[in-house]
Amino acid sequence: MAGNTTLTIIKPDAFGNAKTGKIIALLEERGFRILASRVMHMSKDQAGEFYAVHKGRPFYPELVEFMTSGPCMPMVLEKDDAVAALRGAIGATDPAEAAPGTVRKLYAESKGRNAIHASDSDENAVRESRFFFAETEILAAR
Ligand code: ATP
Ligand code: MG
Repeated sequence: MAGNTTLTIIKPDAFGNAKTGKIIALLEERGFRILASRVMHMSKDQAGEFYAVHKGRPFYPELVEFMTSGPCMPMVLEKDDAVAALRGAIGATDPAEAAPGTVRKLYAESKGRNAIHASDSDENAVRESRFFFAETEILAAR
């Protein structure tokens, strides 16, 4: 059965452009509830570990550079079938291919600077939520 929580990050481009409020409003309108949230500036080690699955890909150094270029905002979100629902709400990796009304269509600049992250599986949602938050910092899901 699909889980009901996922992990998102409002990335440094959207945070720096003061789009956090608009993005959170869009997600809340889509029925997501915030279970944990913080503002932070990731270190190179943190960003490298978070995206370790992409180590060796040509865009990896640029990705780590971008994710550490300014503050970002990780959040644990709750909704039925949360992983698929959030991937739908954020849109395709490349904003040029993202559907109308998605976060990336509205706020992403490019495939690299694409405004928001979302977990891609229930397993990664749990792993990524624990990467940023202690269990005691995450509200109980309903
Ligand atoms: P995310 O994991 O950030 O939610 P995603 O799951 O849509 O994004 P991934 O394939 O996991 O996409 O890639 C992780 C991130 O690496 C992308 O969000 C993007 O910022 C960057 N990225 C991926 N492919 C490219 C590329 N070809 N050129 C530049 N950046 C890329
Ligand atoms: Mg991904």
